Amino acid sequence: MTIGVDDDESAFSRLEDNKGLAESWLRICGRLKGEVGEVEYRTWLTQIALGPIDGDEITLLLPTRFLRDWVRSQYGDRLNELWHNEVPALRRVELQVARPGDPAPLQLAEAATPPAGSPSAPEEQNPATKPVAEVRSDLVTALDSRFTFDTFVVGKPNEFAYACARRVAEKPSSVGFNPLFLYGGVGLGKTHLMHAIGAELVRSGNVSVAYMSAEKFMYRFIAAIRSQSTIEFKEQLRSVDVLMIDDLQFLIGKDNTQEEFFHTFNALVDAGRQIVVSADKSPSDLSGLEDRLRTRLGCGMVADIHATTFELRISILEAKAAASGVVVPAKVLEFLAHKITSNVRELEGALNRLIAHANLFGRPVTLEATQDVLHDILKAHDRRVTIEEIQKKVAEHWNIRLTDMSSARRARNVARPRQVAMYLAKQLTSRSLPEIGRKFGNRDHTTVMHAVNRVTELMERDAAFAEDVELMRRMLES
Ligand code: ADP
Ligand code: MG
Repeated sequence: MTIGVDDDESAFSRLEDNKGLAESWLRICGRLKGEVGEVEYRTWLTQIALGPIDGDEITLLLPTRFLRDWVRSQYGDRLNELWHNEVPALRRVELQVARPGDPAPLQLAEAATPPAGSPSAPEEQNPATKPVAEVRSDLVTALDSRFTFDTFVVGKPNEFAYACARRVAEKPSSVGFNPLFLYGGVGLGKTHLMHAIGAELVRSGNVSVAYMSAEKFMYRFIAAIRSQSTIEFKEQLRSVDVLMIDDLQFLIGKDNTQEEFFHTFNALVDAGRQIVVSADKSPSDLSGLEDRLRTRLGCGMVADIHATTFELRISILEAKAAASGVVVPAKVLEFLAHKITSNVRELEGALNRLIAHANLFGRPVTLEATQDVLHDILKAHDRRVTIEEIQKKVAEHWNIRLTDMSSARRARNVARPRQVAMYLAKQLTSRSLPEIGRKFGNRDHTTVMHAVNRVTELMERDAAFAEDVELMRRMLES
């Protein structure tokens, strides 16, 4: 591994002699990445370069003052701690702005989490020769401490999967819950729930837990074949009480690995051990898997995590904002929950970025700031808005039934939102007044015109109402 090219920098050359430091840094980066998440890690931490070491102090270099201050305020203490853990003699981490000629950041982002199958992955070099106990401790470290039941927000789309996961964590291998098969789209919380099960089991003690992605399972299996240690590999896996394999769809088309997994699976279940598996589809829809494996996978409890609802997205945002300590106005949370509907991971990434900016500039989070800071993310989620969508969002926001958008009811609490929806339809689509009228229960174009005027007038008189409508507009705007 090369660290830098500046030969004049004597302190730095000393560092270069010490490959151990670079490796420590690599491990620290890996840890940080796990702790802060992919987005934050990429935004702030990949730019750090290793600087000189002097006595009990190591210098880390950042390209700008802005980044230095940010990293110092947000991660300074943690960096100190992690360095001290790696190299106990180091007592201080000094953060400095890099000068021309200083070493460039190591590209540790990838190195820290080597792709599965990469032969250079150090911990994977010879997995089969590891003693059994290490397989277990491996898992404990592989568990992400942020992913617990406490931090998992429960709502309609995930309550069943959550309940099943809790049940397995409390009472592994109960009849009817083995295997537990969790499935759902990307970023909806499968991995989170599996880690939560693992954390809970490890906490309660006495149970050995193995968690790995299907990819890692395959890599280990192949490595074991290469080093002629498949027997040890099998024994290791078959010695755990709970085996969790994440993203099983990865095994599609990998026949030998599938076969091995099938045997491991059977051996464990027959011995009364618990299996937890996740995938992006239900067992019956995983068409590339062998039939007998699919059948067995579907034999226990199959729990679907559905796409998030608006309510769940709001709850998740509220929980995460509260945990961050930054005040994020309800309107901003609503805006995000309306705009970023794809999955929780993206929602979380967007909120993290907002929070980072708020911390950095010490400015309150506002809708304007949000649009500015999340410009790129929001743009990716933008699409042309339709009248149906406007009706749906407005009905949701004012809590009326969607059918009331076209019903004849004239009560104010229904009529007003309907007028707002007409107003927004006029503002945000290129539909004519008669066309809009037709979509609202075949109303006349004069009714639409009246609605537009009425809403405009009200917005001028009533600031709170204007803000509400404005919020809707922003949410819907493309
Ligand atoms: P998957 O494995 O299904 O692709 P993850 O479990 O990795 O999804 O979740 C993606 C991100 O979203 C994680 O940071 C996770 O903590 C978060 N997340 C997902 N669902 C929830 C939830 N219900 N409550 C809190 N955080 C969640
Ligand atoms: Mg996952």
